[in-house]
Amino acid sequence: MASASVSSPPESPSLLERSVGELAGVGPVRLAQLQSVGVSKLGHLLALLPSRYEDRSRTATADELESSVLDEEPIGVLGTLEDVRSVPVRRRGLRLVQGRVVTASGTLKGLWFNRPYLAKQVKAGQTYRLFGKVRRGRSGLEILNASVEPIEEEALSDGPDWVPIYGRLGDLSPAQVAKLVAAAARRLESETVPENLPPELLERHGLPALGESLLRLHRPDARLDADALLEGRTPFHARLAYGEFLRQQLELTRRRWALDTSVRRKPLDVDESLLARVAGWLPFELTGAQQRVVGEVASDLRRERPMWRLVQGDVGCGKTAVSLVALGLALENGFQVAYMAPTELLAEQHAKTLAEHLPPERRLAVLTGSRMDAPEVREAMARGEVDLVVGTHALFQDSVRFRKLGLVIIDEQHRFGVGQREKLVGKGESVDLLVMTATPIPRSLALTLYGDLDVSVIDELPPGRSPVVTELLSSGEEARKAIQTEIDDGGQVYYVVPFIEASEEISGRSIEEVEEELRQALPQLRLGVVHGRLDAAERDRRMQSFKDGDIDLLLATTVIEVGVDVANASLMVIESADRFGLSQLHQLRGRVGRGARRSRCLALSEVETSRERLEIFERSSDGFAIAEADLERRGPGDLLGKRQSGQPWFRFANPVRDLIWLTRAREDARELIEAESPVAKRPLRDRRE
Ligand code: ADP
Ligand code: MG
Repeated sequence: MASASVSSPPESPSLLERSVGELAGVGPVRLAQLQSVGVSKLGHLLALLPSRYEDRSRTATADELESSVLDEEPIGVLGTLEDVRSVPVRRRGLRLVQGRVVTASGTLKGLWFNRPYLAKQVKAGQTYRLFGKVRRGRSGLEILNASVEPIEEEALSDGPDWVPIYGRLGDLSPAQVAKLVAAAARRLESETVPENLPPELLERHGLPALGESLLRLHRPDARLDADALLEGRTPFHARLAYGEFLRQQLELTRRRWALDTSVRRKPLDVDESLLARVAGWLPFELTGAQQRVVGEVASDLRRERPMWRLVQGDVGCGKTAVSLVALGLALENGFQVAYMAPTELLAEQHAKTLAEHLPPERRLAVLTGSRMDAPEVREAMARGEVDLVVGTHALFQDSVRFRKLGLVIIDEQHRFGVGQREKLVGKGESVDLLVMTATPIPRSLALTLYGDLDVSVIDELPPGRSPVVTELLSSGEEARKAIQTEIDDGGQVYYVVPFIEASEEISGRSIEEVEEELRQALPQLRLGVVHGRLDAAERDRRMQSFKDGDIDLLLATTVIEVGVDVANASLMVIESADRFGLSQLHQLRGRVGRGARRSRCLALSEVETSRERLEIFERSSDGFAIAEADLERRGPGDLLGKRQSGQPWFRFANPVRDLIWLTRAREDARELIEAESPVAKRPLRDRRE
């Protein structure tokens, strides 16, 4: 976190840089424990922001109590204590105190172990705040081993009294973490933290200093706007988010600047007749949106600096066709092309599709983990005898060389890091780069998150698509009826399950159990199963027979998420839909509705707490809107991928919630880099918008 960029003289390390060992109560054992989870400096500790805040001046509602039972999270209640007494227990050495906790939202049973003094301390009529875990006992809710603290009446009417709640950290309980962080936060009151952002930027945006922000987030005061605090929208949150964005934007802008100012190459020869010829390789006319994006690609290729372009579009919008035109243009200019897919299955599929469309004299090779044992392929590539190589991560390897690599295409960008993509581009000179996202995100967000790429959007689906009607169901019975009807009607069905095997930690059925049930319920059904543990040839064979119509229902894991294209498949059932992210559900649903048949998607889930999220999936068929909702809920981690270091980009910031700060950071980063180097001015100002 912030500590990384704080610089100060070595003789007096700043507060954030100093060891957690300085804190009272951190001896060698605790120190080792903290270090094992990456917390060695006070700055690391202070970077652990509370996961939420509780208002000590109000009591939990009945609903909040219920969900704390489910989440197994401690919670605070306000109430009076009645009938508190020691009760005899059989086990020696154990002393139990029990009593009634009367709160505004009902009465709980209080249970305390080994706190015999409690019975004597409790005063009738006094309001206490209890904080502890709640469970469901035989006679109702019980609060266990809660801390008990008298609260004065005045304090209750004096606005919120915030208590920060922290998560677990390795072996340390939330309470232990809270104690350590509180000790570190106390230091912030008396010591200054060196600021790590330029003061003029803080001033421009009216943002508080780093030290103050950390202090206020760990020890919020009653005057803070409650909603802002709970939603992470205080100026102190904004300060930390902005700092992270600025660092990211500086990195992306520098990289882009280097491209714009230093690399010069001979432009490709792309005229209208070549464009028409290459587009003619496709069996259909490009949609208007595809044509526009192809035009953007073509004008990139005609420039002296390489193309760095991101193509976004909803599932099924036809990104592959656009990439095929791009690669055709590169091939016809005498270059080799590398086409990178995230999985072997997808690489094989792309290779197959491309082979169908490319002119027969073009030589195509596939290079995946399981096909690396083909040294003759690699030699042919290095000699320039292969025009197009389609592969997976295997393409990054040093032993993979090209004679004249001109274009790199990366499908499903979020699964690859920035560093990986650069490694591939580095296998040629001033190589063009075309990246395609799996998850479309709002344009403003894409511009900033992929700040070093130009962005194109395909915002139109090919003709003849019917929208997929989606329904949430809680019973499998209804789904089985729908399957029967669909198949009687000549359609085909995907049945998706989240995992191959059931496990103890997560509820859900194994693929075998589901298969068994389907076979029993629908005995005439021709059923096929595919998942990631089958070898590629067998999986392909089964998918092919589904495509050929020899199988009615394909029971599958998410291996079918990308790529497969079966126009007659008109029903998708997704079991344990709550196990999937929204964007992933949308991606899955994109497998149906590809032909003329009216298509449906049935999402099964019994998990009540996922309902609201799944309703977004039910209502919306817009991948951009869904991705946005996903981002807002889950944060960017899963969706936007990791840096090469494996670290997520952001730890405080949420690019949806904090979009305005992302935009500001982007502008500021450009300004800083322009100031750093006058040469940068033109290219940065010239490009896009
Ligand atoms: P995605 O953007 O999800 O990668 P694909 O490239 O797989 O989408 O395309 C989805 C389907 O639409 C494919 O079957 C493809 O052949 C078809 N398709 C793409 N563009 C067109 C078009 N302009 N006209 C008709 N069909 C198209
Ligand atoms: Mg695709």
